Amino acid sequence: MNKVGPSTLSIQKSPMPLPTADRTALLDNPGFGRAFSDHMVTIRYTEGRGWHDGKVEARGMLSLDPSTMVLHYAQEIFEGLKAYPQPDGGAALFRPDANARRFRNSAVRLAMAPLPEELFLEGVHAIVSEDRDWIPKGEGSALYLRPFMIATEAALGVRPANEYLFCIFASPVGNYFKGGAAGITLWVSEHYIRAAPGGTGDAKCGGNYAASLAAQAEATREGCDQVVFLDAVEKRWVEELGGMNIFFVFEDGTIQTPPLTGTILPGITRDSLIVLARDMGLTVREEPYSIQQWKEDAASGRLSEAFACGTAAVVTPIGKVKGKGFEARIGSGEAGPVTTRLKTALLDIQNGRAEDRHGWIHRV
Ligand code: PMP
Repeated sequence: MNKVGPSTLSIQKSPMPLPTADRTALLDNPGFGRAFSDHMVTIRYTEGRGWHDGKVEARGMLSLDPSTMVLHYAQEIFEGLKAYPQPDGGAALFRPDANARRFRNSAVRLAMAPLPEELFLEGVHAIVSEDRDWIPKGEGSALYLRPFMIATEAALGVRPANEYLFCIFASPVGNYFKGGAAGITLWVSEHYIRAAPGGTGDAKCGGNYAASLAAQAEATREGCDQVVFLDAVEKRWVEELGGMNIFFVFEDGTIQTPPLTGTILPGITRDSLIVLARDMGLTVREEPYSIQQWKEDAASGRLSEAFACGTAAVVTPIGKVKGKGFEARIGSGEAGPVTTRLKTALLDIQNGRAEDRHGWIHRV
């Protein structure tokens, strides 16, 4: 059956872990996604046989035949989650069960073999246990985990593959944006669209990101940090950023974020912040917000704060929004009080400084 139990995830320790002095130097200033830990998890799937050969092994190259189906038809999905350092020196994962569920949903959308959620959880626990010395301790730092799955069958022909590789590797990370707490600038893409109804917008597949890169490059050329995508049908409604969800805070203290209509990624940070804001007694609306309204509200001052959120970005204030022929500052252009309060509440739970009232923390 489709199961690899704890006893079958075999542990093959790296014979050549990075020397402690080199690792310590990397952990002091990890950057984002440049350094990688010593191990990886791999589990194979073959139709008729199910999931098999699960192991924790030395991080190394993947060897693929040129005809490997992922290279041609892009059956690839991934996740992103972090292991956070805890005050007692231990480590904790934040809502890994939600990542496991989203990974399964992504697999179904891409017609891939859905990985059982308990196997996903077993894999992330195993790599954190093995590479716990790779968790950076600095404020805002964590060990970023990248689970992914690719179609590994070597064949041509457009159809779902019958062989897959699930893999997890890990990277110590600091802040995603170099500016830290300063407000980022967004570029509204008028030409490029990220996702359309019936497409793959709510799945976390590499193809979505490939399709977003020209728009992100345009944003960078315009001197902006991230691109904002509008809906495909009316090109009117704000959806999300290239790699994070978006929230708006109004002068009456209410909060709004675009609803999950199938074309945006259901962010786990987004969901957590909605819960935390409601815990604080704040009103949160999951309702469409138009680009026109955004411009008007920024100009009138009705919009007092905006922020981006995601596992990598955590909670990042948005200082400015730009597009063809317009530019608007949001509030003070820096982190406002609601943004700061929500960011602190989230980080305090993730780093074990606040009570975990929702059962989000999984100790490793
Ligand atoms: N939207 C997109 C397109 C993303 O890539 C991400 C990062 N996974 C998010 C939103 C935020 O999701 P999460 O909070 O689960 O990291």
